[in-house]
Amino acid sequence: MSINYQFDQQHIWHPYTSSVNPLPCYGVSHASGVTLTLDDGRELIDGMASWWACIHGYNVPELNQAAQQQLQKMSHVMFGGLTHQPAIDLCQELIAITPEALDKVFLSDSGSVAVEVALKMALQYWHSKGEPRAKFLTVRNGYHGDTFGAMGVTDPENSMHELYQDFLPQHLFVAAPQSRFDQAFDPSELDELKATLAKHHYDIAAMIIEPIVQGAGGMRIYHPEYLASAKQLCAQYGILFIADEIATGFGRTGKMLACEHADVVPDILCLGKAITGGYMSLAATLTTKHVADTVCQGKAGVFMHGPTFMANPLACAVATASIRLLRQSPWQQRVAAIEQTLQHSLKPLQQLPNVADVRILGAIGVVETTHAYDVATLQQAFIEHGVWLRPFGKLIYMMPPFVMTSAHLQQLINAIKQTLSELPHQE
Ligand SMILES: *Cc1c(COP(=O)(O)O)cnc(C)c1O
Repeated sequence: MSINYQFDQQHIWHPYTSSVNPLPCYGVSHASGVTLTLDDGRELIDGMASWWACIHGYNVPELNQAAQQQLQKMSHVMFGGLTHQPAIDLCQELIAITPEALDKVFLSDSGSVAVEVALKMALQYWHSKGEPRAKFLTVRNGYHGDTFGAMGVTDPENSMHELYQDFLPQHLFVAAPQSRFDQAFDPSELDELKATLAKHHYDIAAMIIEPIVQGAGGMRIYHPEYLASAKQLCAQYGILFIADEIATGFGRTGKMLACEHADVVPDILCLGKAITGGYMSLAATLTTKHVADTVCQGKAGVFMHGPTFMANPLACAVATASIRLLRQSPWQQRVAAIEQTLQHSLKPLQQLPNVADVRILGAIGVVETTHAYDVATLQQAFIEHGVWLRPFGKLIYMMPPFVMTSAHLQQLINAIKQTLSELPHQE
């Protein structure tokens, strides 16, 4: 059976797309290792890991087995008043790979919800302390999800705050971190953050930030000193610090958590994307005993959240298998080898006339072009070169599965190089 593209175009919404002018989509029939096979038989090397998620690649025997075994027992059961071993196993793994202070886990169904949960924890924390607070502090160019709470702390321009302005709460934004990961830190970039904290600290519940790598808000990689200082400044005022590691968690930047680059222990941590190795939707919000207990000593007496599919056993079983597989694998060496190939072969693309910048950290490679190309044109060119990449704006970026060989990675890089040299320098 071939894919019914006409039905897809007429009836199905894809992420951030128009129903009036839908862009072409490519049908995938199956995926294995680092290869996506299209409906027409073409094979593409996947540079996206399905948006940071498929760190082990596709059709992974260990994850298939975990899903199949769990399926025999139960696919789902409610989490209110009931518990199960898959959730316990997963939370043990999560507590093992995160800082010691984070020992309370709230499981939810997607990254955006994990962020909503983090924001609600911070609000309830201050409410319990008898000092209700209404504001969050964050940096520009951030991305925290598409639900309202998360969108409220996402970059105002990228998430079109003016569309929802009568509905969205107004939070405090300071300039995005400027000093690059691999260059000197300029302490003056903390001035605005310091001034904002000094002026508004009594009204700020928490600061939320993506550690080290700002993902969908611009693929910017910043200096660990910024993160360490921001955490320290918040601590001085007793303001909670939320690390959104939904994109960076599980080894992507070369550390299990990007916070480790700055030795930062957040009060609240959000995980998602790669948590199940890309098999299904699941996310987690971790916090300290102090925050959790304070939340629950307030008027409500409980933390006020509980999704229907909370701790879905099937997702928990696969997530546990994925984290164990990661921890048993030489992931540090694999990520370091990917970084080395990117440094060697992707970095030189900054010599191309239509390239403004190349940024690399761990298994993340970003090419920023001098102007925005048409996404559909670029995507088609990449497909003709046998690779799957999904650029946005001026950004062509990759975060391949950690199991990608250097030959496949080289093919991805060559596809970008050839595509960029074939395209006009100005449109
Ligand atoms: C993807 C992402 C989210 C949202 O996760 P969803 O699963 O898409 O809801 C939140 N924060 C960051 C940093 C992300 O990269």
